[in-house]
Amino acid sequence: MKEYAVECIRCRTRFSGTEIVYTCSKCGGLLDIRYDYSSIDLELDAGTGRRWKAKWEGEGEGVWKYRDLLPFDDEIEPITMFEGNTPLYRCDSLAKTIGVTDLWVKHEGLNPSGSFKDRGMTVGVTKAVELGVKGVACASTGNTSTSLALFAAKAGIPCYVLLPEGKVALGKVAQALMHGAQVFTLKGNFDDALRIVRVLCEEESLYLLNSVNPYRLEGQKTIAFEITEKLKMEVPERVILPVGNAANISAIFKAFSELKILGITDAVPKMVGIQAEGAMPVTRAFKEGKAEITPEAKPETIASAIRIGDPVNAAKALDAIRSSGGTAESVTDEEITAAQIELARSEGIGVEPASAASIAGLKKLVEMGVIERDERIVCIATGHLLKDPERATEICEPPKEVETDVKVVRKMLKGV
Ligand SMILES: *Cc1c(COP(=O)(O)O)cnc(C)c1O
Ligand SMILES: [Zn+2]
Repeated sequence: MKEYAVECIRCRTRFSGTEIVYTCSKCGGLLDIRYDYSSIDLELDAGTGRRWKAKWEGEGEGVWKYRDLLPFDDEIEPITMFEGNTPLYRCDSLAKTIGVTDLWVKHEGLNPSGSFKDRGMTVGVTKAVELGVKGVACASTGNTSTSLALFAAKAGIPCYVLLPEGKVALGKVAQALMHGAQVFTLKGNFDDALRIVRVLCEEESLYLLNSVNPYRLEGQKTIAFEITEKLKMEVPERVILPVGNAANISAIFKAFSELKILGITDAVPKMVGIQAEGAMPVTRAFKEGKAEITPEAKPETIASAIRIGDPVNAAKALDAIRSSGGTAESVTDEEITAAQIELARSEGIGVEPASAASIAGLKKLVEMGVIERDERIVCIATGHLLKDPERATEICEPPKEVETDVKVVRKMLKGV
């Protein structure tokens, strides 16, 4: 039987899986799910001789394939939309432009609601149902609310969502509304919305599914398992991703560390977090060698998914970056936009602005000489292009009006 506890990352106080707790009641620290790894029974893979999960292979595809490393009993009936199992594309054309030789992009936009948040929410909502809560809630820059609304609909439980007014991309609002969440917008930013929803959850006994909830990170960590498997157990040298609340970078690092602890792999990639210049508290703290971030009161960027001034998981992320020998960098909105267009046109991978920050960051770090040109690099494309259609129409040439006449149309075609 697999054993786990919810543990404070600071004072190591442990809580049981049946308690509803988001931060340590003793010291206020972030919580982490800790397994007794010796209780996890993985079989030896005959081909590689490594302790790999031959067992996992029979478990279907996606997040729940890795249920041996998820905090549930084997009998659990997951609330699932078959999330995960996203493609990992080899991107030779983009690699050539950037000047690297071994570049891969994992397209998390191809999850059921269009972002990696689904990996966390399938686990988080399954936990909510197991706990028997009366409803779920979150604050969101968009994708968290969308994903929660979708999984709450699937589970048949009420969902409450707080959004910063006027700052959420159109596709995300549309999804949250369509899946039947009760959606509220408030004058303020994401950090304000989170402050309020935390109190609401406490007072109204709703289950909080922001990424302070450690169960979400357990689902998100499966990104790393899939990367490792798709690369035939060769751990990449770098994983680069955008950082907002800093959960995903922490989750992915945790998963690579777990594979190493289990003796399945023997290395952990250098974790690289990219933030927008107008919202870069983690990058700043990393560069200044500080143990804690200084929150930014007015985060600003067109990449709304990472428009966050006070990232909840900063402590975990700084640890992930530092102990993996990685780095953090910032990019401008212009660099993000250029990367978004480049990725869409050179590789056919359509992403929302925040996701393109990973590519923009890669470009910058290669030019700075921080990333070697022959490293094996995986960038995480966190969300789909259609999340933010307004931005796409702003940055691309509009369609040209033509007469309903084939001769006129033919004359206007370029490149034929
Ligand atoms: C949530 C989100 C991010 C940021 O992830 P964190 O875990 O908050 O750092 C980046 N891109 C997209 C598309 C997102 O939805
Ligand atoms: Zn503590």
